[in-house]
Amino acid sequence: MFSIKRQGSIGLGLLGLTLLFFALIIPIENKTAYLGISFLLLTLGGLFYFNAIYGNTLAGIKNDGVWFNALSTRGISGWILGMFLTAFYIAIYWFPEVLGYNEQGVSTGLVALFDPLSYLLNGNAATQWFLYGTLYTFAIILFGIKFIWKYWGNRYQLFRTLSVIFFQFCFAFFIPEILSKLNPDTPYFAKDLKNMWPLNYYFLDQWHLKNMLNGGNLGLFFLVFGLVMIFIISPILTYRYGKRWYCSWVCGCGALAETAGDPFRQLSSKKLSVWKFERWMIHAVLVFVVVTTIAAMWSFLTDNPELSFMTRGQFISGVVIVLIILMLTLFFWNKNGLEKDAKYTLISLGTILTLILSIQSFSGQYTILFIDAYSFQKWYGFGIGAAFSGVLGVGFYPFLGSRVWCRFGCPMAAILGLQQRLFSRFRITTNGGQCISCGNCSTYCEMGIDVRAYAQRGENIVRSSCVGCGICASVCPRGVLKLENGELEGRINTTAYPLGNNMEVNP
Ligand code: SF4
Ligand code: SF4
Repeated sequence: MFSIKRQGSIGLGLLGLTLLFFALIIPIENKTAYLGISFLLLTLGGLFYFNAIYGNTLAGIKNDGVWFNALSTRGISGWILGMFLTAFYIAIYWFPEVLGYNEQGVSTGLVALFDPLSYLLNGNAATQWFLYGTLYTFAIILFGIKFIWKYWGNRYQLFRTLSVIFFQFCFAFFIPEILSKLNPDTPYFAKDLKNMWPLNYYFLDQWHLKNMLNGGNLGLFFLVFGLVMIFIISPILTYRYGKRWYCSWVCGCGALAETAGDPFRQLSSKKLSVWKFERWMIHAVLVFVVVTTIAAMWSFLTDNPELSFMTRGQFISGVVIVLIILMLTLFFWNKNGLEKDAKYTLISLGTILTLILSIQSFSGQYTILFIDAYSFQKWYGFGIGAAFSGVLGVGFYPFLGSRVWCRFGCPMAAILGLQQRLFSRFRITTNGGQCISCGNCSTYCEMGIDVRAYAQRGENIVRSSCVGCGICASVCPRGVLKLENGELEGRINTTAYPLGNNMEVNP
């Protein structure tokens, strides 16, 4: 039974949301006041609701009633929310005019409602992306508060959530907007701080590269910084802490999944067949983004030889040599027991190699396996950059769980995952003798990992997909699971076979 407090707070929040979307049909005179009131109602509705459900409870994780709530169990309200989010994403990506955006002239409707805030922050009228970025950041902050309240008493969850809120608000929203205002004439690269491939999949696209190379010292700085991030800083951090440094502490997609997506984390499928599909899917996306990027570089070097210190032939030869070295290294490493992962990586690298070797240029067309290289880029942007990451990735939270994008489609997660599995100090250790097989850990793992199966065997969890959110360890009533960084040696202990507490026993 819902209490008056809960019903009232839901009503306040819905009123705020309705007011916002009312701007689609009625022209608003005083936009500042109208926008302020809508956000105030949303904030108050949210805070009162969190207080109503968590206010008088003891510290500790509050998952009570998750399976009795229609919203979080694919009930009618879950379906309504899923369809609303999906429709909103489709409008943002492909039909922004529905929201009032006018590329040629003055916007109206919901987009125009955000004009006062947009002028204040970046000096320009709002676009559909400003509207989206504001709502996205607002959702992370509001639901971040809910998340902290729900997991109150757990320091890992507290600091992790504060971290994602900080990175989203400062680095993904506020600073880029302010930079836009302060440097209106500098190109996009100087305003976008997520300058790391493949998260930023257009980092090595012709227009972006050209802007950086023609952008003087600032452009050079962003180019070098992006490359250092990809090839040095990111691998070092993943080696030391696992992919969690990014996926659970920094990334905006992870931030939304962990905060607004938290009520849906139990909907991720734990089936073996889905795990198999996940591995093929995410590695296919990885191959796709690598080939797309190489095609972009090939086109760039063909069209702008004066801007580069190497020819396209030297570039392709370099890539082929690096891939062959990687494949040989893995092939010999394979002998030390990393069969499956090495196999998947080898297949990915082999496919990339074949596609690269098929890059040809004839009659002015750059083709990969006879497909125009630009089409590769276009399809990547449409299929992965928009449809997968936005529409499926967030719109389907109430149907498939909160990390669909991170699990099946994010090329950044794929690269970090391979690094995590092949050379990282991170692992989740399991004290199998204490496990009572309650299954809480598996239930709440948003990445669909059957944590309990590892715990029952006393086996360390060293999975590419694990984002190190720590929820499995937080919800375990027996303290079986521990997120640790240690020596590489012995971290994958598939032969562990503990019954009772004896970890030394071999089968
Ligand atoms: S195994 Fe644990 S830490 Fe890893 S993703 Fe699942 S719940 Fe998060
Ligand atoms: S939550 Fe803890 S006790 Fe329950 S199955 Fe998982 S590891 Fe075992």
